[in-house]
Amino acid sequence: MLEGHTAVITGAAQGIGLAIARTFAEHGANIVIGDLDRAKAEEAAASLPTPAVGLHCDVTSEADVAGLLSAAVDSFGSLDVMVNNAGITRDATMRTMTEQQFDDVVQVHLRGCWNGTRLAANIMRTSGGGSIINLSSISGKVGFIGQTNYSAAKAGVVGLSKAAAKEVAHLGVRVNVVQPGLIRTAMTEAMPAKVWDQKLSEVPMQRAGEPEEVASVALFYASKLSSYMTGTVAEVTGGRYM
Ligand code: NAD
Repeated sequence: MLEGHTAVITGAAQGIGLAIARTFAEHGANIVIGDLDRAKAEEAAASLPTPAVGLHCDVTSEADVAGLLSAAVDSFGSLDVMVNNAGITRDATMRTMTEQQFDDVVQVHLRGCWNGTRLAANIMRTSGGGSIINLSSISGKVGFIGQTNYSAAKAGVVGLSKAAAKEVAHLGVRVNVVQPGLIRTAMTEAMPAKVWDQKLSEVPMQRAGEPEEVASVALFYASKLSSYMTGTVAEVTGGRYM
């Protein structure tokens, strides 16, 4: 479905990003992985079945994101798909959250997504189009205790994506959002068992999702299957908070 396409995925050294990279590669895409962890990004790229490179990139730095996108065009000749996936959590109740914890989460998710969306759109608008996929979270739809920073940033990703989608739709650039629920990755496995069980009890499908189940929705948005969709939000939650 992505034969001959080039996809850049941030935060893809592990977790959901890596599953997206693997799924896209299995469908023929050349892959560029950008992550804070260069060694893990290189290792992840080497594990893929299609040509792939892994590079250091801090998504909060405009220069880093610009460098990542240039690497894609220089290595493979085009930029067709951009996935803004890099993320962190710094959970604490409002009473105890530090300004640093608030700012760090907003910087990575919101500024990172803005950097990736506008810089990718700048390239895609001159090359006839492309697909941008931004990772939000169900936390941005309903708000979670201990996540005033993360819920704000993830709701912001939806607004950012819809505004961007309207700006670039006429240029053939689509911008869509994936909003995962409880997915089994390092980010969620760090939760106390009690919190995990509570979240699990809210899922109508009665199980956590796997990173590959988010990746297949990203593939849908990356491919022509979704050619008439932009500014949309896909909930990948097993029915939680539908
Ligand atoms: P993860 O912690 O397993 O992986 C995140 C990756 O992002 C890591 O490789 C990390 O090094 C990288 N990263 C962090 N800060 C970065 C930065 N400034 N620049 C570049 N890379 C950076 O997380 P995950 O669970 O795979 O989450 C991926 C995305 O999905 C995130 O945006 C997350 O908020 C979102 N999400 C996850 C879940 C879930 O249940 N796991 C649910 C909803 C949304």
